[in-house]
Parts: sequence; C-alpha cells; structure tokens
Amino acid sequence: MLKDSEDKKKLTQSEILGEILFPSWEINKKVSELGKRITSEYKEKDLLLVSILRGGIFFVSDLARKIDLPISLDFMSISTYGIGGDSTGVVRITKDLEESIEGKDILIVEDIIDTGLTISYLLRNLSSRFPKSIEICTLIDRDIRRIADIEIRYHGFKIGEKYIVGYGLDYKQRFRNLDSIYELNINIVNKDIKSLKTNSHL
Ligand code: 5GP
Repeated sequence: MLKDSEDKKKLTQSEILGEILFPSWEINKKVSELGKRITSEYKEKDLLLVSILRGGIFFVSDLARKIDLPISLDFMSISTYGIGGDSTGVVRITKDLEESIEGKDILIVEDIIDTGLTISYLLRNLSSRFPKSIEICTLIDRDIRRIADIEIRYHGFKIGEKYIVGYGLDYKQRFRNLDSIYELNINIVNKDIKSLKTNSHL
C-alpha cells in the first residue's frame, strides 16, 4: 500500500487518474447492446441477474434497465484472497443470495474478469444449487491474464494489462462513482497496484 507519507500528500483525483479508456457514452452504448442481446436470448426464460458487490452495482443497474423482460435481481458479496496481488480463486462468501436459484436461468453480472479464478469459484458454487442454466456477462474481459477455463457468453470490452477504475471499479475504495472508466496514473500508484487486487471485491 502507499506509505503514510504518500497518503498524507493527499493526491488529487487528476493526479491519480490516467487517461479515459472508455468514456461514459461508449459504456452506455455497449450496455444497451448487451441488454438487447440478452432480451432476445432470454425470452420465455426465468432470468435472474446475480451481481457481485460492490464493483458490479453500476453495471448491473444500468444493464437491468436495458433488458426488456420481467427479470429478477440478487446480490452476493465475496472476499477474495491473493498472493502477490494475483487472484488465487480462494473466495469467501460474505453475503449470500437471498433467494433460491433452483430451476432459474442465472446470468452472473461482473465488472471485470481477469484470471477468471473468482468467477470460476462462483460458477462451481452456484451450479451446485440446481439452476436451470448459468451464464456469465462481464463488462470488461481481460482475457490475456486468464488462468481458469471459463466460457463468457457476454462481454463488453477487452483490455490489456492496465489497471482501471470507475463505473464500479475502485482504487482504495474510491472512484467507483466515476461515469467513465479510467486507467490509473501508473507513475503515482505503481507500487500499490498489486496489493490492491487482494480483497478488491470488498
Ligand atoms: P480474477 O479472479 O478474475 O482474477 O479477479 C477479478 C476481480 O479482480 C474483479 O472482480 C475486480 O474486483 C479485481 N480486478 C481485476 N482487475 C482489476 C482492475 O483493473 N481494476 C480494478 N479496480 N479491479 C480489478
């Protein structure tokens, strides 16, 4: 993490943020496209969107309103543990779903999938609860770092190594509320990025 002295400098938002990778208009357009596709592919089904707190809330709330079907929504909260900043797939559920998913068509809605280890744990966990079907929708797909063998049915954007914030994604719990997705100013936060990925779902 940043040293105390660096924290005390209170870096301003413009010093921490780098360039905009996905402006809000582009995100809105992509979310509408995904909503249309999901609407046409889930007609006559019992669709339940499962979102992972906290990063997924902006995406799922926008996406849900672009799906023209009588869907339901549920939320899970998890802690992830990493080694040297990388996900290990060791996950603890800190808030479980409120409803049973038996017989339902589940779409897990994620902000970003990186190694895929976290979602792979969730897939195993939710599959054991007898849903009718289970698929993944992620706004950001960083497939170059993928370790787990997972199939993503819907994805918005692909990115490379850049660490990003905004539209639900945080840096030290801040910047989730930004409308656009930014990369971090790497010169300022380089040392910090690895430890950020530990517990990044919290
Ligand atoms: P995975 O298990 O797929 O490696 O980890 C995915 C989780 O790591 C995401 O849900 C997110 O919380 C975190 N994460 C991965 N890359 C980024 C990133 O670039 N920015 C932020 N803010 N979180 C990230």
